[in-house]
Amino acid sequence: MPEAKRGSACPICGKPVAAPFRPFCSRRCADVDLNRWLSGVYAVPVTEDEEEDERRDEGGEAPN
Ligand SMILES: [Zn+2]
Repeated sequence: MPEAKRGSACPICGKPVAAPFRPFCSRRCADVDLNRWLSGVYAVPVTEDEEEDERRDEGGEAPN
């Protein structure tokens, strides 16, 4: 990895990271990543019924 000198390259566009927007180079890239993350969360279908059944079988373990 020749570009990993400081590990500070924007994961969105690859430009040098700016401290106020770490680990991104700009607010725009931070927003891009945030939107990506949010849409990923909202895209996950929730199946509460199945989760409760599993929780009963495992005896109250962390829901993950
Ligand atoms: Zn960037």
